[in-house]
Amino acid sequence: MSEIGSISQPLRVAIVGAGPAGFYVAEHLFKQKKLNIEVDMYDRLPTPFGLVRAGVAPDHPKIKSVVKIFDKVASNPGFRFFGFVELGEDVTVEDLRNHYHQIVYTTGAQTDRSLNIPGIDLIGSHAATTFVAWYNGHPDFRELEFDFSQESAVVIGIGNVAVDVARILCRTTDELAKTDIADYALDALANSNIREVHMLGRRGPAQGKFTHLELKELGELEDAEPYVLPEEAKLDDLSASTLANASRGTARNVELIEQFSLPKQSDKSKKLYIRFLVSPTELVGDETGQVRALRLGHNELYATEAGTLRPRLTDRFEVIPAGLIFRSIGYRGVPVPGVPFDNNWGVILNEKGRVIDPETKSPRVGEYTAGWIKRGPTGVIGTNKPDAVETVNLMLDDLNSDSVLEPSFPGPDAVKKLIMVRQPQFFSYDDWRRVDESEISRGEALGRPRLKYTRIDEMILLKNS
Ligand code: NAP
Repeated sequence: MSEIGSISQPLRVAIVGAGPAGFYVAEHLFKQKKLNIEVDMYDRLPTPFGLVRAGVAPDHPKIKSVVKIFDKVASNPGFRFFGFVELGEDVTVEDLRNHYHQIVYTTGAQTDRSLNIPGIDLIGSHAATTFVAWYNGHPDFRELEFDFSQESAVVIGIGNVAVDVARILCRTTDELAKTDIADYALDALANSNIREVHMLGRRGPAQGKFTHLELKELGELEDAEPYVLPEEAKLDDLSASTLANASRGTARNVELIEQFSLPKQSDKSKKLYIRFLVSPTELVGDETGQVRALRLGHNELYATEAGTLRPRLTDRFEVIPAGLIFRSIGYRGVPVPGVPFDNNWGVILNEKGRVIDPETKSPRVGEYTAGWIKRGPTGVIGTNKPDAVETVNLMLDDLNSDSVLEPSFPGPDAVKKLIMVRQPQFFSYDDWRRVDESEISRGEALGRPRLKYTRIDEMILLKNS
């Protein structure tokens, strides 16, 4: 059995990506009480927590409270954070191989799935993922502009991200001001002229990807009312026949959607239309290239051989006016420089978390992955925990069979020296804590949970002050 993991020779692990998957990997490693493990966590941003900071909706503070667990992980004496250090720019896979026994890639899914329909690149048409990153103050997206002078917006997709986007568009300024939404987004949305939001599902109420709590919340907005067309709330025969075996969440969604479709009087100023069995077929623009409308095809469902219900277009179409469009049809992973990638699935080539060499089809010694870049962009934050455990268990099996990297410079000081040369402005966890405390105190002054720093320059100034 390996000596690595002993007091004199700690197991040295690099985790690339400081989102939930990375922290759950670190958490499970530190649970191995018989092993001495040191973890260095890298992130290209100075701030940790990935999508918990830049993806979770600002009006969902409870979901963000998971950072308390991550903070506890970071307080382990074997943990170091190297923020603002990018793999492929500041360090390479080769550098990591020279300094660690094991490397885990937890870089998440950093872009969106594309929707190839005519007009998708018109002005006013955006990926929902960029809007989400913008309103959450991600430094790479803060300069984006969205035209809220429009009256009608469309969100394509009915997953939880689509629901987040629709809800943020429907919230009042008072509701948003209680959150940690980026200050520029709060200002821009305060001047929003949007009165109608259309959320489009290509399948029916029983196939919505939203979770029940998120759907229910749409009925509880201060100044927006959800509407469903009665003919779209009614289940088709195929969906109705599968409902008996559906999850409780699906059954409750179907019931709630039926309620949303009942006639009602509402004096709320915004209308949120949740549509089913419609697919966008074309974005229609004006002479300036600005999107003005969306052409929709009505769908029917059919059962595949595998038993899933898929949509197909009928000969019925309609056009809805819209000046702002968000496609929210899923995230997608991007390749990590120097790491094998499966382009079809947008994930690192892997087997249960072991990175696979595309030539030999065997595991690459000492390289692992977890989270969305391992399995694709599905599941909630907690889903990353069992996923991380699966990867860590393989790492421990490999350690037991002496199948680890043999770094030339395994000590913790060597890699720190390298990083000080490559990225002298790197952020330690203490540096992040200063940013965190400052954000909270700036927020307190305004009666908000925090006021985020959204420029890296500002964070560097604070760190060096
Ligand atoms: P998602 O759950 O996969 O939803 C994608 C949506 O896009 C589905 O409605 C899908 O319809 C639709 N779609 C895909 N291709 C389409 C096309 N060509 N035309 C029209 N519609 C299309 O993805 P997501 O919303 O990005 O969420 C990603 C993950 O993060 C999910 O697991 C989600 O639950 C999670 N998340 C959770 C929360 C929360 O817990 N509050 C918040 C945000 C995100 P089909 O079903 O027909 O494919």
